[in-house]
This record gives sequence, structure tokens and C-alpha cells, in this order.
Amino acid sequence: DPRIHGIKTKIRVVPNFPKPGIMFQDITTLLLDPKAFKDTIDLFVERYKGKNISVVAGIEARGFIFGPPIALAIGAKFVPLRKPRKLPGDVIFEEYTLEYGRDRLEMHVGAVELGERALVVDDLIATGGTLCAAMNLLERVGAEVVECACVIELPDLQGRVRLNGKPLYVLVEYH
Ligand code: 5GP
Repeated sequence: DPRIHGIKTKIRVVPNFPKPGIMFQDITTLLLDPKAFKDTIDLFVERYKGKNISVVAGIEARGFIFGPPIALAIGAKFVPLRKPRKLPGDVIFEEYTLEYGRDRLEMHVGAVELGERALVVDDLIATGGTLCAAMNLLERVGAEVVECACVIELPDLQGRVRLNGKPLYVLVEYH
């Protein structure tokens, strides 16, 4: 798809952020370009429209940028999966390992119901730990995760292995 190239050129790579040795993929420059941003959303919407998805779950923080426009366009609800102590209601949580230490994702109890068909959205998959935790949250309440969708994949980190065979759709790979 010719739109992919345009999207890729708008993602800025920032060396040594947030730590020495990390090549940070910055999607804020993609958001500055209305055509490339729209193409990004359209590509996901074209893939998921008509697939009977009832919930788009977006991962804090950048899944909150791409998830809601996709949810609105396909007629699904949006559910935020948040970092600890941000959600005011009762939550369930999943812990996952980071390079140093652990973090967790939380989801409101009752936001997703048994039998719902879910799409998980984030900006980027690196080791896959974050998406794995997100899928676990949804599956614990009886939802079926149809697919995970990211703008960017860092395939060298083999994050797909952590997804236990769950399909992952990405627009751009960065080696
Ligand atoms: P993982 O759990 O797959 O190792 O890391 C993915 C999570 O870290 C995502 O929520 C993503 O937003 C964030 N992340 C890690 N590296 C980058 C990066 O280079 N750019 C951006 N935008 N996010 C990153």
C-alpha cells in the first residue's frame, strides 16, 4: 500500500532517548501530518470494519491516540488500559516485566463483558510484554482478542513470541 511509505517517513527516530543506546520511535511527528495520521487510522479501519469488533482497548499513553478514532469509525467502544492508580473505579491488573523492574496495566471492572470481540491497540511493540499483559486482562474477563494492532514493530526484539500465536498487525517495521 503506497500510504505505508508516507507514514514511515513521518516517524522520527530519536537516538539515546530516554536512555543511552535506545533508538526511540517518535510518533508525534506523524501526528503533525494530517494526511499521514489519517492514512494510519484509515488502514486500521479498513482492516477491522465489518469484523464484528465490539471493543477497542488502547494502551496508555499512545494507544489513547490511535485507539479512539479507530473505535469510532468501526462502531466499537473504547476502553483505556492504564498505568497503576489512574483509574478511579474497581480494577483488575496484570503485571509485566520491563528491562528494569516491573510495571502493570489496569482495566476497569465491568468495562468489557464476557464474549466481547476485542482489538488491542498501541503505537509500538518492542518485547511484547505490554501487549501480552493487555491480552491477559481482556481474556480474564472472557473477551476474545481478535488481533493486536500497532503502528510500529521492532522485529529484532521478537515480541511476537510473547503473544502466544495471537495475530499482530503492524504498518511499519524498524530494524
Ligand atoms: P514492550 O512491552 O513491547 O517491550 O514495549 C512496548 C511499549 O513501550 C509500548 O507501550 C510503547 O509505547 C513503548 N515503547 C517502547 N519503545 C518505544 C519507542 O521506541 N517508541 C515509542 N513511541 N514507544 C515505545
